[in-house]
Amino acid sequence: MQITGPRGTKDILPEASSFWQYVEQSARTICRAYVYQEIRTPVFEHTELFLRGIGETTDIVQKEMYTFNDRGERSITLRPENTAAVVRAYLEHKLYSGPQPTKVFYIGPMFRYDRPQAGRLRQFHQFGVEAIGSKGPAVDAEIILLAVHFFRQLGLNDLNLYINSVGCPNCRPVYREQLQTALRDNLPQFCHDCQSRFERNPMRILDCKNEKCQDLSRSAPALSDCLCQECAGHFDELRQLLDAAGIEYKHNPRLVRGLDYYTKTAFEIQYPPLGAQSAVCGGGRYDGLIEEIGGEATPGIGFAIGLERVLLALEKQGLLPAQQTDIAVYVAAVDAASQAAAFKLLAELRLAGISADMDYLGRSLKAQLKQANRYPARYVAIIGEEEAAQGKVALKNMQTGQQELISAGDLRQKIQVEMEE
Ligand SMILES: [Zn+2]
Ligand SMILES: [Zn+2]
Repeated sequence: MQITGPRGTKDILPEASSFWQYVEQSARTICRAYVYQEIRTPVFEHTELFLRGIGETTDIVQKEMYTFNDRGERSITLRPENTAAVVRAYLEHKLYSGPQPTKVFYIGPMFRYDRPQAGRLRQFHQFGVEAIGSKGPAVDAEIILLAVHFFRQLGLNDLNLYINSVGCPNCRPVYREQLQTALRDNLPQFCHDCQSRFERNPMRILDCKNEKCQDLSRSAPALSDCLCQECAGHFDELRQLLDAAGIEYKHNPRLVRGLDYYTKTAFEIQYPPLGAQSAVCGGGRYDGLIEEIGGEATPGIGFAIGLERVLLALEKQGLLPAQQTDIAVYVAAVDAASQAAAFKLLAELRLAGISADMDYLGRSLKAQLKQANRYPARYVAIIGEEEAAQGKVALKNMQTGQQELISAGDLRQKIQVEMEE
């Protein structure tokens, strides 16, 4: 029986990898401009990190983690997201002793045991950034701007940016109680998930996708009306900065994040043409996370962007760049006797950084020329016995059809000059 890839995984084939490179390059370019440096953490961590860093009550930890014991009986988990790992590295390598805030980005695979039928992959890819060490709100605005800029640079302009403040440990408990009081009488009518959220995490009821729950919670008080002075001031300043940068946004009081270590700014970017799965970026401040993981209280903020959805959006809008398969030179050997000379020329061209290829299937000269057109190749360098004896090649320009006899050294120079133009 033939072995297939595991459920929920997807091969990125050569015909699609250039699209991924394009999007990744775009992320790198933006991060260079915003001065975020790349960090590469392992794809697996001690399970304990995610229990503390994502929270034991979350769906991710309870239902979706790839957790196993390794041969040394250590509990290991494939990273379901990357903020906790970045914070772990920040503490472990004392990045706080460098210039602050620490601004890093990552691009890579994440793993969640999710339902593939919902269009989600078990290995998926995220581009994310984290800025650790500043209370904001300027860095909050910077991060939001970076995300918006990323999408716009790719040509995805019809974005909806939603922002909210989820408060802090000073103001949230007060709100929690108000919310519970408002919802308590109708609790039996809420969905099963919401009923279990009511005690441990009532704010999550506000972003339940169930329509009935949404109706039932419509009249609930909004956290933005209960923010403490510090949180309210932070949110005002963030809005002023976004206004100053000319960024459009909507305040969505239902945008919440479930855990106590999330504080103040929360934001989400949606790309409506994607329909039901239009959320392409989620982020926010996590001033309580670093303490949770074992460091000293340190503020931080970040976002993650799902790259599969970005690629889907680009494909839908026809914004993916044409694939580049063209090469500079195809080296064609007239007969078997000229193979070695052809191979030598090929090696010289490649060493000089020139894209060049030749036939490895014993094709006739005619079939080789056909192959050259398939790339397409800009030039075909034909080598036969005669040419090899003179140390030259017959160079055919595939666009004009013109042919000339030229030495290998001159050929190299000619192409290099053209490449620089
Ligand atoms: Zn507060
Ligand atoms: Zn619900």
